[in-house]
Amino acid sequence: MVLHERLEPVYANVVERNRGENEFHQAVHEVLESIGPVIEKHPEYAEQKIIERICEPERQITFRVPWEDDRGEVHINRGFRVEFNSALGPYKGGLRFHPSVYQGTVKFLGFEQIFKNALTGLPIGGGKGGADFDPKGRSDREVMRFCQSFMTELHRHLGEYTDVPAGDIGVGGREIGYLFGQYKRITNRYESGVLTGKHLSFGGARVRTEATGYGCAYFVREMLAARGRSFNGMQVVVSGSGNVACYAMEKVHQLGGTVVACSDSSGYVYDENGIDVELVKRLKEVERARIGDYVEHRPAAKFVADRSIWEVPCQVALPSATQNELDAADAAQLIASGCIAVGEGANMPTTPDAVRMFQEAGVAFGPGKAANAAGVATSALEMQQNASRDSWSFEFTEQRLEQIMKDIHARCYATADEYGMAGNYVAGANINGFTNVADAMLRLGLI
Ligand code: NAP
Repeated sequence: MVLHERLEPVYANVVERNRGENEFHQAVHEVLESIGPVIEKHPEYAEQKIIERICEPERQITFRVPWEDDRGEVHINRGFRVEFNSALGPYKGGLRFHPSVYQGTVKFLGFEQIFKNALTGLPIGGGKGGADFDPKGRSDREVMRFCQSFMTELHRHLGEYTDVPAGDIGVGGREIGYLFGQYKRITNRYESGVLTGKHLSFGGARVRTEATGYGCAYFVREMLAARGRSFNGMQVVVSGSGNVACYAMEKVHQLGGTVVACSDSSGYVYDENGIDVELVKRLKEVERARIGDYVEHRPAAKFVADRSIWEVPCQVALPSATQNELDAADAAQLIASGCIAVGEGANMPTTPDAVRMFQEAGVAFGPGKAANAAGVATSALEMQQNASRDSWSFEFTEQRLEQIMKDIHARCYATADEYGMAGNYVAGANINGFTNVADAMLRLGLI
């Protein structure tokens, strides 16, 4: 899609200054596509170079992470933290441990995070981090040593009022525990609010584990309701089988839908009777097994390797694994099979071509910035509880989460309407998130 003439040079400059960081270019382009009408209405944003400023991280940290495996062999990984924007609050965003992580991954995720966090209406800025470390096949002791080394460098950049990481791919409760332990040890401070996604036993919040997946299902429920539909009787496909996917599946079942397929990076399982979510959780979280092992416990199910999960017919699709996992060919299959709604549980899982195809076909499309914002929103609730040394019940926290997702849906819907793009949640999310950050930046002066 062509950009507004004032935004073309901004984008060209981003590509020039951040060479080879393709996902970052993609994420910037997607936001710039939406905000052409905004700078027509608010020329002050362009005059004050707000867009150029937003595209340049406030700070980027790259560091060496040396660690020793169980055999005594030394390994060197690379750690990253991008502190992108703190106009609305401390930098907030997860850490990803995956061999594919490089500067461009962290930059695209951090950029998206700015607008997602703004959209929640909570006081949090945007950041992201990670390392090119592969936790797969590593023992608990190895993961602990890696986390300790990673935090030994990162701790100097963190603080409950400065920068507050959480989990992401490859960083779950186990890793957050090791990271918090090392932070506490080095700083001699029990600063609970410095990390979120903590276990309940040391300052964690109820519903944080479930939040992103639950929130995604709630967001899609709202999109369906806006069209007079519900999850009742719907066949649903969810990619991935990690944190987001498992809890999205759980909530879809509670809301009356049936998830018939889920996946990991080795393939997908199809279970027409409905995926046994407890079994998937046990296999992936406890046994750290592969999704193919599911069929040993559910003989009626089948495992399909090396093919796209999006070939499975469904009315609702929730891509919840990783970026660019659903392309134009997948979108064509989904549209042909009668898909009416897509909610991005993952960050940027749908390629730009596929997004356009869904929109042109009239499929309700909920972008990750909106649909998966419940994770970070619940992290902000965890920070609130830590700051007041309080601990809320599961029911109360989930009610707040549900309301936050309803509000995000309403904001996206109303903003898209206001700018003449009714039903376009991508535009609604980008414009609402952008204007919240831009207005704060204007008031904060040239910083
Ligand atoms: P996770 O627990 O580590 O799970 C990731 C899942 O995706 C695993 O099932 C993994 O399979 C699968 N996967 C990874 N790369 C893949 C690939 N190339 N092809 C197919 N499957 C692949 O991570 P998560 O926390 O659920 O995060 C999933 C997505 O949601 C990410 O995009 C993340 O940024 C986004 N997100 C997460 C949160 C949160 O609160 N956790 C919040 C907002 C957004 P393997 O086991 O085979 O690797």
